[in-house]
Amino acid sequence: MTNQELIDRYPWLRVSNRWTGKFVEDADWTELDDMPHGWRVAFGEEMCEELNQEIITWPPSAQENFRITQIKEKYGHLCFYTNGESKRFREIVGKYTIKSKTTCIGCGAPARWISRGWISPWCDDCARENFEHVNGSYSAQTPWEEEYIDINEYYKPYEEED
Ligand SMILES: [Zn+2]
Repeated sequence: MTNQELIDRYPWLRVSNRWTGKFVEDADWTELDDMPHGWRVAFGEEMCEELNQEIITWPPSAQENFRITQIKEKYGHLCFYTNGESKRFREIVGKYTIKSKTTCIGCGAPARWISRGWISPWCDDCARENFEHVNGSYSAQTPWEEEYIDINEYYKPYEEED
């Protein structure tokens, strides 16, 4: 879907002025543009559709006043901020936040690695590509896997706590 098609279908995805709350007129970008490419490919539009099904049940005034303040990646997972939302909305975002942890931010494939330093999930191909891009010729001597943590190791402690 193009941004214009997204805006036509989901007006709440429009970019707004953070101070006045006014939508930016005639902008051809959306709040979804700040989402990492891989996540947008994997579940961006699916998430918008689900959120929209919830938003259209809200009273008209709540729908009119609703604004996204930011959609981004932080600590390897999706962060979605708004100026106020329903419990159901938060549940939907929570579901995709969990999904984002194991989805490659580069291409949307299932992630196998977590990068060290800047924590992000990567698939095999993107992890190697990303490593070579960052390290250049250095990559010939160092196995790229050493720069990453196996995703099953990384998320293991959290799963056991649950
Ligand atoms: Zn990938």
